[in-house]
Amino acid sequence: MRAVRLARPGQPVALHEVPVPAVGPGEVLVRVRAAGICHSDVHYRAGRSRVEPLPLTLGHEVAGDVVAVGSAVTTRTVGDRVCLHYLVICGQCEHCAAGREQFCATGLMLGHFTDGGWAEYIVVPERNAVRLPDNVSYEHGAVMMCSSSTSLHALRKARCAPGDVVLVIGAGGLGMSAIQIARTLGASQVVAADRDARKARTGRRRRSQRSGGAHRQLPRPHRARSRTHRFQRSPARRTRRTHRDGRRRCTGARRGRDQSRTVGGWRHQRCARCAGTAPRARADGHRSVAPAPTCRAGRSSA
Ligand SMILES: [Zn+2]
Ligand SMILES: [Zn+2]
Repeated sequence: MRAVRLARPGQPVALHEVPVPAVGPGEVLVRVRAAGICHSDVHYRAGRSRVEPLPLTLGHEVAGDVVAVGSAVTTRTVGDRVCLHYLVICGQCEHCAAGREQFCATGLMLGHFTDGGWAEYIVVPERNAVRLPDNVSYEHGAVMMCSSSTSLHALRKARCAPGDVVLVIGAGGLGMSAIQIARTLGASQVVAADRDARKARTGRRRRSQRSGGAHRQLPRPHRARSRTHRFQRSPARRTRRTHRDGRRRCTGARRGRDQSRTVGGWRHQRCARCAGTAPRARADGHRSVAPAPTCRAGRSSA
């Protein structure tokens, strides 16, 4: 099969011919129909995040069809449309049992520490293959497993609830997901802010087109400071603890953190993945890859 692989950080990825992976008893073979390019992939290619073993097939945003199942597989069948959870975990340790699988000592991320989905086929444990409803495209399913789920996780950690006012700083890929998910969760007002006025406008324009964009946008950077202070005094200030305790970062971007400070008394800056609740980086086998400044787990956001 064909696969796009990284052989050396700093070098372009290249198309290779590799064997179709063998299916183990508890695994499924998926024919890839869509695979996203994440900004993490850019870091991997540039050598800013460790990738091993090399050469490695990149790609952790993957959707496709199950075309073969192992002898012990019980929940998936050939023909299922699936999107793939990108962490291959043990499923038995205390972190996995508690839903903090990102800290599983044996966890491997697709396209980072094990072959990913920039290929015609990929093998994963059956629990990593999540059923994709017929009305969701492969492309959307693939992206939802990374950027959209990161945004959902951040909003859950922020305890986003109906009626909340939500400020999304950074209207890029994750920000656009956060805007739409916040509206779906019932936020009464979603405000988009971005240093790039064009992006902020895009976040707002989607509202009229699909009823999924931000209600408001903060202005261009040179005016943002005074406006954010005004925003602070407006309805956002009156909402329950959302702003005091509910801020969450989806990426490791320093600018977003600084802007958050401006918006209101930043006290606890937490990584969206661990939400500051994880133990410090373990000595055993934890893959620390250019940790986000405040991620106590030592693992950067994907
Ligand atoms: Zn990603
Ligand atoms: Zn585990």
